[in-house]
Amino acid sequence: MNTPHLSEQQAQQWAENASSADATLAAHVWACPACQRRVADYQALFSALKTAPQPAFDFNLAARVAGQLPGVTRAFPWAFIALGGLGLAFALAVVASGWAALRQLFQAASAGAVALGTVLAVSVVLAYGLEMLFRHRRQTEIFLSLPRELQHDGAQPV
Ligand SMILES: [Zn+2]
Repeated sequence: MNTPHLSEQQAQQWAENASSADATLAAHVWACPACQRRVADYQALFSALKTAPQPAFDFNLAARVAGQLPGVTRAFPWAFIALGGLGLAFALAVVASGWAALRQLFQAASAGAVALGTVLAVSVVLAYGLEMLFRHRRQTEIFLSLPRELQHDGAQPV
């Protein structure tokens, strides 16, 4: 018999699925006790791996990981609201300083255009505010639905 022994990869493939091997390899394996032994060893190994219990940690991994995570912000984002207020105050200051020019602009524009602009501006501000509020509520609900050990808010777990 001139066919060389199975390589490790061929022996593994044979052990997993003998029908995938070609006829030359099959003829060799049927005639070669050494290759039959290697294939049988791999079959035993694969079967042991399939029936082996799944590895599991003997400690609470979720609690340990959660302890390393940065804290979840529970408070309403007052800093962003304060910044928004400052921006609004700045915009009002700009409007007040250029009031005369703005008045001429508003007088030149039609009442419909002014009303439309006002409605658009108020809508944008309202949409941002509502979106911020809903996002905060959603995040709070998600946070409160977490298991207690994952509700880490910066304090060390007791
Ligand atoms: Zn062989």
